[in-house]
Amino acid sequence: MSKRRVVLTFPPSLVELPITYRLVKDFDLKINIMRAHISPKEEGKLVLEVEDGSTEQVEAGLRFLEEQGIRVTRLSKEIKWDQESCVHCGACTAVCLSQALYMSPDWELDFDPNKCIVCELCVTACPLQILEATF
Ligand code: SF4
Ligand code: SF4
Repeated sequence: MSKRRVVLTFPPSLVELPITYRLVKDFDLKINIMRAHISPKEEGKLVLEVEDGSTEQVEAGLRFLEEQGIRVTRLSKEIKWDQESCVHCGACTAVCLSQALYMSPDWELDFDPNKCIVCELCVTACPLQILEATF
């Protein structure tokens, strides 16, 4: 099983292109849309998790997108959180738009790596510098 998290940036002329449909139908990929910013006449952005049985199939799908003029940024980093040192101040949650970092009902910080889009905004937001982007 191969899984890639990618950011797709596309010009206004390609906003109408049925990207996820083509990836599912032509390349037999499973797509999870994590974030989307698409509006007519503007550059669009999609954060996708692309999954399949083989790396070749995922890469073929991503190459197809690049051939259409879409910029594909592969996210190869992940966020590490030093949970032991955390003081649960919540500063990192204010910048985490995907809500991967969130306060639990008892006001302790929790982290869902599956929602993380590795934007790295939390890395600089943490006063204790205990959030780190690693390869
Ligand atoms: S890098 Fe940090 S701020 Fe960005 S999505 Fe991941 S946890 Fe949230
Ligand atoms: S900003 Fe740092 S110390 Fe504060 S809750 Fe987030 S990880 Fe913990």
